[in-house]
Amino acid sequence: MKKDKPQSQGILIKVIILLFVIFMCSLIFIKIRNDNDPNRIIEKQRSEIFSNIDKTNTANITKFYTYGTHFNIEGTLDIVKISGIQINFVDLILKDLNGEEIAIKADFNYLDNTLAFSTSSEINSGIDLETLAINDYYILLKATYSNSDVKYYSLSNSSEYEDINYYTISKENHHNKINIYFDTYNETKYMAINVKEENNLPEDVYDIAIDPGHGGKDKGSTNGDYKEADITLDYAKKLKTELENLGLKVFMSRDGTEASNADMANNMYDDDGRINILNASKAKMLLSLHIDNDKYNKEKGGIEVYAPNNCNLEFASNLAKNLVENSGSYYSGLNSFKKAEGVYVRNYTNLDILAFNSRANKNGYEPYNVTTSTPYLYIIRETGGIATGAFVDGRNKSYGTNKYYNSNYGIEAYSIQLGYMGIQSDLDNIISKPDSYIAGIVKTVQEYYNL
Ligand SMILES: [Zn+2]
Repeated sequence: MKKDKPQSQGILIKVIILLFVIFMCSLIFIKIRNDNDPNRIIEKQRSEIFSNIDKTNTANITKFYTYGTHFNIEGTLDIVKISGIQINFVDLILKDLNGEEIAIKADFNYLDNTLAFSTSSEINSGIDLETLAINDYYILLKATYSNSDVKYYSLSNSSEYEDINYYTISKENHHNKINIYFDTYNETKYMAINVKEENNLPEDVYDIAIDPGHGGKDKGSTNGDYKEADITLDYAKKLKTELENLGLKVFMSRDGTEASNADMANNMYDDDGRINILNASKAKMLLSLHIDNDKYNKEKGGIEVYAPNNCNLEFASNLAKNLVENSGSYYSGLNSFKKAEGVYVRNYTNLDILAFNSRANKNGYEPYNVTTSTPYLYIIRETGGIATGAFVDGRNKSYGTNKYYNSNYGIEAYSIQLGYMGIQSDLDNIISKPDSYIAGIVKTVQEYYNL
């Protein structure tokens, strides 16, 4: 009888040990599962990022836009000035979930207790959307103070603008889709970028748009039987084929099927007019082709590339250079609005603005908000949205409305004067060597987009 007791005790101990082992194993199992649960990992990393954000203040985004392949942010931050302490650097930080940072040095200045910042003073610089790797990024403002303090601030949308959807330039039929958006995490408002792979470009999204100048009943400049509208169309078709050979998806503002009496010059702000269809193409770049006969430049001739305002002129300079080198033509001798050899930025002058405003007064509409950094050429201005100060909002009843005048998605646009109609040698060169001019354009695009 006495023998049984220790035996049953032994079994009990074994059972207790077994239960304990099972309990510990399930604890470990739950922990391993939790550690590997992607949602929990993301949540942990996210809470780590937000725990480092200064909760006393949030930066206000007043303007954000894409222009061409770049993205820019402008905004303000209220700061408490402490005597003797300065802000030495301001960076926009793209922080991914692994805590890796991409820093973009911001332009900034502060007056009283407000810091104003912008990612770039050049509309086609800033954050390069083409080189962003697939990931989720939180956008933070990082201020480095003279006492070595570093503070991170999240960004909230104080602008009227909505999220941006952007598709990167086609490379071997491959794109990334980029969504720039605002959201809230534990009551902290933030701005973020999601980059994901997207192999199918939506039907209505293009890489490049070509605008053959004039068309319909507007023949442009002429010399004998030669008409600008016909030559630019011929060039545009050839250029489209060459750009497509690089794998790009190309949109044309007209293809020559327009009626010969179509009023292409005056209906450009109609729904299916030149400006609205170009904006709807969501292209990253627009190349407008012209051969003009400017009365001020009759004896000079040559190549002129017109670039947007407040712009990095690298593309425009290379375009002028490659056009000259490939075609055997020469840089225009025109000096007005010249920024570099063959490169021009034609903004409104004070005189233009005076004339413009008095016309508005005479016709009974509120003058536009035009400044000396507003592009004069409509094809550049009205396809760039807020980046270029597009203004055709319908107040002038003599033409329609650019539905995209207030868009934060801008097309990087250049107007190319291939030469001068009235200069016989220019015309002869343009007629006899289209492939060489086009090769110069294609080479510049290829280099710019690393194709
Ligand atoms: Zn023209």
